[in-house]
Amino acid sequence: MGMLMIKCPETGSAIPTGIEMDGERFRCSAVFFSRTYCRICAVTHEWFAKEAWVYESVLAKGKSGGGQSFGAGAA
Ligand SMILES: [Zn+2]
Repeated sequence: MGMLMIKCPETGSAIPTGIEMDGERFRCSAVFFSRTYCRICAVTHEWFAKEAWVYESVLAKGKSGGGQSFGAGAA
């Protein structure tokens, strides 16, 4: 799992959308539209999925095992 990120259109900074999603699943997902509150601009930006990307956190990569059987076959 990673955090869905978008680029702030005003400042160009990457801001987290608060949506957690698997990178592979995100690529396969249909195009969607959403809104995210930007703390830098103090406004809500509207964005499309094609403008977003998944930031895979170190935490997500660090955990292995645990009996999760779905999504086996990464890489
Ligand atoms: Zn902004």
